[in-house]
Amino acid sequence: MDLVGRALGVLHTVAERGLDLALPAACAGCRREGAPLCRECIPFLDARLEAEPGVPVGLPAELPPPLLQLEWCAPFTGVTRRALLALKYDGERRLAPLLGAAVRRWRRVGVGGDLLIPVPASPDRVRDRGYDQAALIAQGASRDLRRPVRHSLERVRATAAQFDLDRASRAANLVAAFSVANDAGIRDRWVVLVDDVVTTGATLAACAAALLEAGALGVSAVTVARER
Ligand SMILES: [Zn+2]
Repeated sequence: MDLVGRALGVLHTVAERGLDLALPAACAGCRREGAPLCRECIPFLDARLEAEPGVPVGLPAELPPPLLQLEWCAPFTGVTRRALLALKYDGERRLAPLLGAAVRRWRRVGVGGDLLIPVPASPDRVRDRGYDQAALIAQGASRDLRRPVRHSLERVRATAAQFDLDRASRAANLVAAFSVANDAGIRDRWVVLVDDVVTTGATLAACAAALLEAGALGVSAVTVARER
């Protein structure tokens, strides 16, 4: 091999190594090298696959009106938590289809639902990250549930600091934070909201209120995880 050929070979190897370094090659759950989420860790996303539908009795969060149903796939702990944080903050977009598929719980226990609508992140966050994690999760869920995704909601303004407000003002503050940007295909349809994590359900309830006002027949919700 001549000098130029050898030099090109070295450059090629360096480029390949650079590429390997650029691509995170470890499982978000256990750091094992290979897939973004390994085969041993994926089952954690299905922690509640066999659980009864609905919110179990005795848990603090009841179904927030006007939602018709709220389901989540796993507690926001361990592997599920690490995978969701890696999607949200580390730019590990390859996790989105896997996390979206966790919504297969909805296929088992979800009632009705004509289309999926992701809960939109604030425009500032989308600009910083370059993507909206709930939208990516909804795309993954769409394939699994064979229902279309519509990006009908938008955040109309940054929410005021919630901790300064009493309970009623908090709810009003959130409702004002969402609007229906595009009501095509919503009227008389049953919407399933999709988000990464639910805590109190207040955000989902605010989105549901905006969609009902725009003519939706009913609104349910499914999230990958629930945080307590
Ligand atoms: Zn793993």
